[in-house]
Amino acid sequence: MEITRDGGCACGEVRYRLTSDPLFTHCCHCLNCQRQTGSAFVINLLIESDRVELLAGEPQAVEVPRDDGSTQTIYRCPVCQVAVYSEYSRPEVRFVRSGTLDEPGSVEPDVHIFTRSKLGWVTLPSSAPAFEVYYDTKSLWPPSRLERLAAVMSPAG
Ligand SMILES: [Zn+2]
Ligand SMILES: [Zn+2]
Repeated sequence: MEITRDGGCACGEVRYRLTSDPLFTHCCHCLNCQRQTGSAFVINLLIESDRVELLAGEPQAVEVPRDDGSTQTIYRCPVCQVAVYSEYSRPEVRFVRSGTLDEPGSVEPDVHIFTRSKLGWVTLPSSAPAFEVYYDTKSLWPPSRLERLAAVMSPAG
């Protein structure tokens, strides 16, 4: 039995349900995430887009410039503008912002990334691996999660 998690924006217009556990959970300390959140880091639940079920509202896609010249699509509530999830290069996987979950404490980061720009006063736990920049998905994700990723990245037929 998979665990489901609900979340939403601040005003209640957008409500969503994650129909299973995430693939993996990132705590990202990069400068883009710091700027986008106005905070020290962001916690993203990586999950297949078809496992993010909209219960109410329609998040609005906003193209946000990144330091490398690319853009990132951030989905925001059309009313209160809270960002609920984002997309990077592939639309098959959503990056759900864990602070928008009804129970943000129900997930912990599986990995800390871009620690080269981590703020000095943030102390990382020893319970999760940390990387200066990024990591090798194949060596860190459990096999069952890699299978799930492969299933959405190369659908049959
Ligand atoms: Zn809202
Ligand atoms: Zn980041």
